[in-house]
Amino acid sequence: MENISVIGAGTMGNGIAHLFAQFGFNVSLVDVSQAALDKAMDLISKNSSRQVAKGSISEADRKKLLNVIKTYTNLKDGVKNADLVVEAASENAAVKLKIFRELDEACPASAILASNTSSISITALGASTKRPDRVIGMHFMNPVPLMKLVEIIRGYSTSDQVTGLISSVSKQLNKIPIEVNDYPGFVANRILMPMINEAIITLFEGVAGVEEIDTVMKLGMAHPMGPLQLADFIGLDVCLSILNVLYDGLGNPKYAPCPLLVNMVTAGHLGVKTGQGFYSYVAGSKETAASERFRKN
Ligand code: NAD
Repeated sequence: MENISVIGAGTMGNGIAHLFAQFGFNVSLVDVSQAALDKAMDLISKNSSRQVAKGSISEADRKKLLNVIKTYTNLKDGVKNADLVVEAASENAAVKLKIFRELDEACPASAILASNTSSISITALGASTKRPDRVIGMHFMNPVPLMKLVEIIRGYSTSDQVTGLISSVSKQLNKIPIEVNDYPGFVANRILMPMINEAIITLFEGVAGVEEIDTVMKLGMAHPMGPLQLADFIGLDVCLSILNVLYDGLGNPKYAPCPLLVNMVTAGHLGVKTGQGFYSYVAGSKETAASERFRKN
């Protein structure tokens, strides 16, 4: 496997492209937005400079990794030689189904089509193509360079051979692959999102404040970050959409999103990306304080 195409150059796509390039693959990075591609290349350039400063790669490695990434706004051009595609476009089922139909037409018949989706059915993505045995979930965690896990999701029709290949590619990237089956939320989000939702319900019911809830989980459970702050980092819109996938797909009221989360998303308070969530964020500052709305007088 040599040629990797990454679809979507956002938060995850730039990290995934960087990782494959660092480990010697040829990378085609595709996005509908030229601005997103420019921003991703800028980030990859900055992040790889940081790796050089830390001594984890050499300047020559950095030059090489930047050289092997090519960018495209046209999907067909970006995938025509792909051995593996990793789709990391927006978390929207209609968008992803359309991309998978286009990939099936434009990629070599032998290419494996993987999705980095957090929650959308791999079986449904596979069923939209003529190669469901070669469609699989390759779920990297954020931030991609730091997190060791790749959750490998087997769709209903994914073959053993493709699952084995994707596990071994993940190991080549110095990651640890864990195989799971394709049911709503897979494993990571099936367990994480109900915990985040329960933290929001705990706040909503006035059991404790934002900082108290997060401190209990940090100091009491050794979590590196409290669940409310983590929700802000993931994006409250993303959390809501994953909870809806769990609620709709499993039909159990325990997954119903907390009304406070629904209100915050409706109001456009999406966490770090909008500057307001459970905490307030100031660009360029690492200081955080509970958002004014949740501050105690
Ligand atoms: P993002 O919004 O930062 O980036 C998505 C990118 O996809 C944008 O640049 C957008 O222009 C592009 N895009 C949209 N439609 C496209 C199309 N048809 N063709 C090509 N590009 C298109 O999103 P993200 O946070 O990077 O998430 C990407 C995927 O990764 C989602 O499926 C998400 O669930 C998953 N994921 C996200 C995280 C996270 O913490 N953000 C973690 C794990 C997995």
